[in-house]
Amino acid sequence: MVERLQDFSRLAIHTMTFKRLDLRTIVSLFQKHGVPGITVWREHIHDIGLGEAKQILRDSSLKVVSLCRGGFFPSASAIEREKACVETMKAMDEAKEIGAPLLVLVCGAEPGLPLAEARQQILDGIQKVLPHAKSLQLCLGIEPLHPMYADDRSAINTLEQANNIVTAIHSEWVGIVLDVYHLWWEPWLQSEIMRAERKIMAFHVSDWKTPTTHLLNDRGMMGEGCIPIRQIRAWAEQAGFRGFIEVEIFSERYWNSPPDEFIQRIKDAYLRYV
Ligand code: ZN
Repeated sequence: MVERLQDFSRLAIHTMTFKRLDLRTIVSLFQKHGVPGITVWREHIHDIGLGEAKQILRDSSLKVVSLCRGGFFPSASAIEREKACVETMKAMDEAKEIGAPLLVLVCGAEPGLPLAEARQQILDGIQKVLPHAKSLQLCLGIEPLHPMYADDRSAINTLEQANNIVTAIHSEWVGIVLDVYHLWWEPWLQSEIMRAERKIMAFHVSDWKTPTTHLLNDRGMMGEGCIPIRQIRAWAEQAGFRGFIEVEIFSERYWNSPPDEFIQRIKDAYLRYV
C-alpha cells in the first residue's frame, strides 16, 4: 500500500465511532487531532439536548457532514408507518438546526413483513417526507445495509435497489449513502456506483473482519479486514464523488480503547488503506 500524503482534509468520523463519549468530548477530541468533519448521531444530541448540541458544533471548527439517522419506514401497522414519517421529519429539523446538509436514511424492515412490501412502503415513506426535505433544502441519503440486516433494519440491501428508488423518486434532494461495510460484496458494485454518479452523497468506511463475531458491534478498522476500500473509493471518485470519507466503526473492542490512541489509529489507517 502506498501511503497518501498527510492530508486529512476529507476525513470525517461518526460520533458513534466514539459511542461512549459525549458530544462535547468528541468535538474537542476531533479538533485536537485535526479531524475536520463530523457526522452526528441523534443519540449524541438527545443526551444533551438540541440547543446545547447546536452550540457545541457552532463553536467548533468542525464541518457537520450529516445527521444519522431517519427512516425505519416499513410496518404492518399504518399508525407505526405514520409515526416513522413524523420521526424522520423531526430528524430532518434537527439536521437543519445543527447545520447538517444531509440526513442519512436507514430505511427499515419488519420481521414477517414481506421484503417487496417493505420496499414499497420505503418508497412511499420517502415520498411522504420529501416535501419537508425540499422546504428545508436538506438532502436525504438512502443507505443500503448488508443483507444480514434485512429482517429488522433495512429491506434495501444493495446499491442496485437504492439506485432504483432514487431513479423512481427523481428528486435533487434524494441520493445514496455508500458504506463499504454494507456493499463490498455486491456483484455489480462498480457498475452501480457508476450508475449512481453524482447521487452519491456520502461515503462510509470501516472493514469486515474474518471471522466477524457480532452482527452489529464487531466492525474492523480499515485495513483489518477484506474490503477493498481504496478500490471502492476510486470507483466512487470516478463517478464524481468529492465529499468527506467518513469513518464509522461500531466496535466493542474499540469503544473500550483509550480515545486518543483509537483516533490516532484511525488517522494512520486512513492514510494507509483508504
Ligand atoms: Zn454507514
